Amino acid sequence: MGPDRRQLHILFFPLMAPGHTLPMVDMAKLFARRGVRATILTTPANAISVAATLSRASEAGDPVETLLVEIHPAEKGMPETLVDANSPDAQMNFLVSTARLRDPFERLLREHRPDAVVSDMFFPWSGEVAEELGVPRLIFHGTSFFSLCVIDALFHHPPPESSAGEEGGLYAVPGLPHRIEVDRSQIPDFRQQKPEFAEVFVKMKQAEKICFGVVVNSFYELEPEYADHYRNAMGMKAWHVGPVSLCNDHNGDRSGRGGGAGGVDPDNCLSWLASKDPSSVVYVCFGSLCRFTAAQLREIALGLEAAGHPFVWVVRDLAGKGAPSSEPWLPEGFEERTAETGMVITGWAPQILLLNHEAVGGFVTHCGWNSCLEGVTAGLPMVAWPLFADQFYNEWLLVQVLGVGVSMGGAKRYTLREEERPLVGAEEVARAVKVLMGGGGEEMRRRVRELKEAARAAMREGGSSNDDMGRLIEELLGKQTTPVHAGD
Ligand code: UDP
Repeated sequence: MGPDRRQLHILFFPLMAPGHTLPMVDMAKLFARRGVRATILTTPANAISVAATLSRASEAGDPVETLLVEIHPAEKGMPETLVDANSPDAQMNFLVSTARLRDPFERLLREHRPDAVVSDMFFPWSGEVAEELGVPRLIFHGTSFFSLCVIDALFHHPPPESSAGEEGGLYAVPGLPHRIEVDRSQIPDFRQQKPEFAEVFVKMKQAEKICFGVVVNSFYELEPEYADHYRNAMGMKAWHVGPVSLCNDHNGDRSGRGGGAGGVDPDNCLSWLASKDPSSVVYVCFGSLCRFTAAQLREIALGLEAAGHPFVWVVRDLAGKGAPSSEPWLPEGFEERTAETGMVITGWAPQILLLNHEAVGGFVTHCGWNSCLEGVTAGLPMVAWPLFADQFYNEWLLVQVLGVGVSMGGAKRYTLREEERPLVGAEEVARAVKVLMGGGGEEMRRRVRELKEAARAAMREGGSSNDDMGRLIEELLGKQTTPVHAGD
């Protein structure tokens, strides 16, 4: 660092949901490793989920500071994270209500004057505040270049109104590097969103026009045509800095990532996996937010049993209830029959610890972007079972572009409401898992192993993501406006 430069200070402000907070915390750790002063701004409840991770980072000499802000200071019982919002409507209301953080964010930005802020796409108002105060704002969307390109294409060229949301009928998304043909039932209809939420989307698009740029948790070699399309055809200024989860290079980092105090004992999982053959276990997890009906859970259970491969199945707990459904959700006798071959985790699992265990050979995923990248970096082929948000786009990338995934068959529909989804039967679950774990998955396995190596190379010195992070740091240092203080 030259004499006229002081330590760069970046404030990271993620949405209070694991799929956004965990990668931003990883990113903050990576910046801290490069000498940047990194601060996470979040709510007290969300800070708990990453406290263990941050204290390990400090012990390792890459301290990340935490600044707290309250979203509902006076109202008790309001959700403080997206995971605590226990219905699709409550989730939408939560996302809209995050705009309450605008004033406290402005106060903190004035007080701390960071050199840059990386804030969540769901906080478009943070871009307005940053612009007013002359602080460069970078947007974090938490998804792939591919999704960013598809979302833009669908925003500008949605399928004709009458057919949006209907079952069946293919739509070729216009203007993309590959021909991507999708079922219309898998395309969200932005025009049918609640007005308050539709407004957030419009503001998000506007915020892109005034931002300094976009940071993407991806690596160039994974999706080069889409990284180029995003920058060149769409004209966005972007830096790719991932896969950021690779910063968790020790089992200790991997065990404690995101779980807070709850969740399964990682050591139990490891000793269970150690009793299984290499690449024999299928890991099944649908991220932090997806819910299923009891009927669908029973079909998954029967399908896993019929597929005949050992499995770890992570089932999301209903807040505070200790089970994913108030109805019976496991088939009779299932636990006894699968006592040796199956592990059901109800609640939080140490996902990247498990994915990287040598006994795990395949991943059934809902296609949240973090899970897709974590599957790739673990070198695992995937069964893609998207439900909502960018998950369908990520499925198209995994299956149609990269050839590292097989789609869960049967009718699929974009909806947050589990009761509106067509039931996927046990036979289909078993079929997909057999393809994944059996001979049919060889080509996927070969491709994904190559990508695993490419991902690691991208993060090493001289790799594309490592270099892009360096370029971003240089640009931000070049923009430092506040004077150098003695002692900085
Ligand atoms: N995750 C985890 N344990 C769980 C569920 C999720 O560690 O039991 C992590 C997972 O590794 C990923 C993140 O939470 O980093 C979820 O993000 P993703 O984009 O996959 O899905 P979302 O939860 O946002 O739908």
